[in-house]
Amino acid sequence: MDLQPDLSLRTRAVAAGRPAASPGAPLSSPVVLSSTFHADGDLAYGRDGNPTWTAFETALGSLDGGSALAFASGTAALYAVLDPLPHGAVVLTTEVAYSGTVALVDQLAEAGRIELRRVPAGDTDAMVAATPGAALVLVESECNPTLEVADLPALSAAAHLHGATLAVDSTFVTPLVQRPLDLGADLVVHSATKFLSGHSDLLLGAVVTRDPDRADRLAALRHDRGAIAGPFETWLALRGLRTLAVRLDRSQANAAELARRLQAHQAVTRVRYPGLPDDPGHAIAARDWSGFGSMVSIETAGDPAAAERVTHSTRLWSHATSLGGVESTLERRRRWPSEPAGVPDTLLRLSVGIEDIEDLWTDLDQALSQSA
Ligand SMILES: *Cc1c(COP(=O)(O)O)cnc(C)c1O
Repeated sequence: MDLQPDLSLRTRAVAAGRPAASPGAPLSSPVVLSSTFHADGDLAYGRDGNPTWTAFETALGSLDGGSALAFASGTAALYAVLDPLPHGAVVLTTEVAYSGTVALVDQLAEAGRIELRRVPAGDTDAMVAATPGAALVLVESECNPTLEVADLPALSAAAHLHGATLAVDSTFVTPLVQRPLDLGADLVVHSATKFLSGHSDLLLGAVVTRDPDRADRLAALRHDRGAIAGPFETWLALRGLRTLAVRLDRSQANAAELARRLQAHQAVTRVRYPGLPDDPGHAIAARDWSGFGSMVSIETAGDPAAAERVTHSTRLWSHATSLGGVESTLERRRRWPSEPAGVPDTLLRLSVGIEDIEDLWTDLDQALSQSA
């Protein structure tokens, strides 16, 4: 089914990318597990494409307003954005970001492939000032895990003034909360492992662009490098995408209520959530987003060991990395040696799920009080 510009994004999440309606045709896209295809058609081999990719890509492209390409993981999608850069190209990015992204650009810089410039996330002026000479500006819509909000209209204006490409990792917010291409981004990257698929049962990534030439080059690169998505994972992700709107409704409402209650908790010294009126990212999120996301980061009173105890004292919240599933998870990000030093060592990142709010609060409250 084609893009449906007259339908709301919430409806497109359900309706886009379905097989054409004809008598006897399936409503849902089947998973196509085939490495090769009969000759003389559009597809020859499984690295060229797959009908299950097409279904997922049509749905995600409809939500983001561009052409989507599925990749094996969010990391593979990010690498597809970095890989075509000319040798020695300047990449402007943030000091804090997803630790895997930090490691990836660090490795490319150490190998002399790119030159890195880093500014504090959320400091739009510093980002704009550092843009001249950059080939690529790479930011996260909402920074992982410190939750600063990127000012995409300002960053895209600066990038385009100086001939740079703006790539936005929008994993934390999804197109139902913010559409980066509408705000001037050239490329959107998703770890579909997280909210888009929503059930913590697969890894998948995607890149979305409005530029047909970029889309063609990305498809060629995916084919040639081989970091392709598994059809089964793609099918599961599309199944998850169908319920994105209702999952986000609940998880965002839960996150907003938890953030409000956590602000008053004696064991919590700081709550980061763009939905709070005094949060540094509130003004931009209120302007550019249609919600405030489902991620909440807190800093706990006491030392990192006390923060660590919280993560081992919950019964309902799972102590686990990753995010964006229907189930609530939390972790102390600095437990990972690879986490950027700019992340406070008592910071707990909460991925708020769709459980009953009172059950979530009761468990978190007892874990925080017991560990303080
Ligand atoms: C998880 C994550 C990634 C990496 O995605 P994978 O699917 O794990 O490779 C990239 N960016 C952000 C913001 C993430 O949270």
